[in-house]
Amino acid sequence: MGLSGRVCPDCERRVREPFEETILGREVCPDCARALFLASGAGAAAGGSLGVAAGVWSTLLRKIRRTR
Ligand SMILES: [Zn+2]
Repeated sequence: MGLSGRVCPDCERRVREPFEETILGREVCPDCARALFLASGAGAAAGGSLGVAAGVWSTLLRKIRRTR
């Protein structure tokens, strides 16, 4: 099996689980997809704009990268 996973474009980890497509149309690992889902929920709660969600998302990304 040459397929040992894909590198997630967001967290840059190699992930074996199937990727999920986000609301932004990118494919990311399940961890990032879940984080983005939470971020978009928080963004919606904060005002409903995708821009807000993206801001929350980048904050979450920094947290993910810091805990590698
Ligand atoms: Zn990821």
